[in-house]
Amino acid sequence: MAKILLSKKNLFYNLEEISKKAKGKEKVAVVLKDNAYGHGLIEIASLCKEFGIQKAVVRTIEDAQKIRDYFSYIVVLADNSFHNYSHTFHIAINSLDDINKVPQNANIHLKIDSGMHRNGISIDDIEVAILGLLERKANITGVFTHHRGADTLSTDFFWQNENFTKAKTKVKELCEKLLIKVPSFHSCNSAGLFRKQIFDEDFARVGIATYGYLDNDEVFDFPKLKPVMSLWATKMATRELKKGQSLGYGGKFKAKENMVVSTYDIGYGDGFLRLNEDDSYKTPKGFEVLGRVSMDNLSLNSEDNEVCIFDDVTNLAKIHKTITYEITCSLKEGLKKEILL
Ligand SMILES: *Cc1c(COP(=O)(O)O)cnc(C)c1O
Repeated sequence: MAKILLSKKNLFYNLEEISKKAKGKEKVAVVLKDNAYGHGLIEIASLCKEFGIQKAVVRTIEDAQKIRDYFSYIVVLADNSFHNYSHTFHIAINSLDDINKVPQNANIHLKIDSGMHRNGISIDDIEVAILGLLERKANITGVFTHHRGADTLSTDFFWQNENFTKAKTKVKELCEKLLIKVPSFHSCNSAGLFRKQIFDEDFARVGIATYGYLDNDEVFDFPKLKPVMSLWATKMATRELKKGQSLGYGGKFKAKENMVVSTYDIGYGDGFLRLNEDDSYKTPKGFEVLGRVSMDNLSLNSEDNEVCIFDDVTNLAKIHKTITYEITCSLKEGLKKEILL
């Protein structure tokens, strides 16, 4: 059966590098949204806990519930329904309208729009938002923002940082005036953390680097991380393909000579996307994907019983003209996960 192997050694290596840069394990919030970028929510949560990480970031309260025993602090990015709310959850508020839904004593992280213009309130609305939240007797435990281009060499990172610094100053002044505790501040994703000369925020929200990738411009001298996930498939059938015979849907692969081919139990139904016909893809052992990827299988010039389909998705991301995030996130939740110790 096809499966995902998770390398605990590589994950711990990445978490070590990340914690070093963030200046402490307590300053790292691992981003586990979307099934831990396809790696398995529970598997990655339990390993992160074992490493000593205490904070996590998820998209929904449902996901927060699933990992509540692993972390003492969970930021929920995009679910303010407040059902099954727990005191270790910190709910992001993405617009002024959201404030009307906040129940008493809820922990709130206020999202600031520092220039991405996707979510968050504008800097000019900070006072209105804080007063509104206090009126609802919420605990303002965090104020944060998100970068639109920390991974690319442009001025974006700098002016967004400047805007967020302005926001922080404003929040601190208000807290002093209103006699409330200054909240935690956080703005960095993976690339943001590694771009900071000196990291001085309360914590960073680290997703892709945890899993071993940094999709950044090459000019940055970021550390080399190690991919955590490898995808494996099992042989279903082997046959000889005679010279001139074609294989699979559309007969897109044609044998130039007699050859042995095998079918393996992974396909786009599992989230291993169909390949662009202009590019060839080879597995780490050098087997080539022959012809089209089907829903539940693909063919290789191999006879091995088990084949590693990938142990690094950088090349696949290039072939698909996308980012590593999308390749791992595409893998279906139902794929079996095994942890390699
Ligand atoms: C997904 C996400 C992150 C993590 O980003 P990476 O580039 O994977 O480190 C951080 N913050 C927010 C708000 C996100 O949505």
